[in-house]
Amino acid sequence: MIAEIISVGTEIILGSTLNTNAHYITKKLSYMGIDVYFHTTVIDDPKLLEDAINIGMKRSDLLIFTGGLGPTYDDMTKEVVAKTLGIKLILNNSIEENIKKYFEKTNRPMTSNNIKQAYMPEGSIILKNEIGTAPGIYIEYNSKIFILLPGPPKEMELMLNKYALPLIKQDNIIKVKTINTIGIGESALEDMLKDLIGNTQNPSIATYAKDGRVDIKIIVKGTNEEKANKLLENTIEKIDSKISKYIYSYEDESIEQTLYKKLLDKNMTIAFCESCTGGLIVSRFTRIPGVSQVLDRGIVTYSNKAKIEELGVKKETLNKYGAVSEQVAIEMAMGLLNKTEVDIALSTTGIAGPSGGNEKKPVGLVYIGIATDNNAYAIKSIFNGDRTTIQNRTTMKAFDELRKII
Ligand code: AMP
Ligand code: MG
Repeated sequence: MIAEIISVGTEIILGSTLNTNAHYITKKLSYMGIDVYFHTTVIDDPKLLEDAINIGMKRSDLLIFTGGLGPTYDDMTKEVVAKTLGIKLILNNSIEENIKKYFEKTNRPMTSNNIKQAYMPEGSIILKNEIGTAPGIYIEYNSKIFILLPGPPKEMELMLNKYALPLIKQDNIIKVKTINTIGIGESALEDMLKDLIGNTQNPSIATYAKDGRVDIKIIVKGTNEEKANKLLENTIEKIDSKISKYIYSYEDESIEQTLYKKLLDKNMTIAFCESCTGGLIVSRFTRIPGVSQVLDRGIVTYSNKAKIEELGVKKETLNKYGAVSEQVAIEMAMGLLNKTEVDIALSTTGIAGPSGGNEKKPVGLVYIGIATDNNAYAIKSIFNGDRTTIQNRTTMKAFDELRKII
């Protein structure tokens, strides 16, 4: 089903009203799996609105109008839609009563132009307006759906959600799944999936780079629940077979959330000692509610002195290999493991730049140390980018390495 939003109002074109209605309706329809292909905005002019309706009818199955339903002279969406479709407007007595009551209740005199709002296109379904006077309208005509909604966003949103959307019968069940990957760039990932991406509309597969990770969004459509599920499972399997080593979650979550859930599941605890990341790892980790169940501590051991005093790193190791070295990363992690009662300790030491690098140890060189009861090792990486990027990449890498070993 292809949908089009037709926003009616000179004030929108002139820039005095931001078209939030089109944005809101589009989000709602997309969520239902209805494709919105067009946003049309037209001034309060009957001839131009008629043109917009004729164009919309040719290319879309569902036309949703907002604005121009009120009592004033420039409100004429209903009249123009009825005229264009060749449908008569007839007085609806119960709406007339409601409008009269509304004015009595709000203690305002009712002007005669308000009666205009009680005329409805023949054969249409009336959508109740619970917080204003202008009712909405639902019309089916030549297998197309026309929905007319008021302009004021509050009235429009309530009517859309409560009365209009439930009337739209969908011929398709939609399933959406987001797979999270890490350790591969978007273009490389897209290349590995090129046989799957862009091949078909159904399933639709797209990649989105996001905060150190790349998400793969899958949208499938099926004529029933079972068919949609099958196609989704099938698609996930195909993606899995090509890139499984980069996938860290099928739950649309951050890498630290995945790590947290794994630690919780295995009943394990963790501690961090950070040099070049300066507490960034533990800061990100503590954004997760409930993390105290798995996190013991995070300490920033920036100077050599701190590494010696807090973690028991040997002076000789620092002198012999330098603070940014595999040996120091391992001693840091082992020192933290010995000091605490955690199951895993992780350390970082590196050159975040922009200065401090040399030929042997360039800016971006980072060692991540990991110590457990039966193993201690360090992972060497050389990251590109500025100071913040190097720190962020180290953080993502640390979470990724941890989730891999748990
Ligand atoms: P109308 O029903 O055309 O008289 O619109 C009434 C009021 O609703 C306008 O004055 C605007 O403040 C608001 N409105 C109309 N159309 C939109 C739109 N597309 N987005 C946001 N607000 C709107
Ligand atoms: Mg208007």
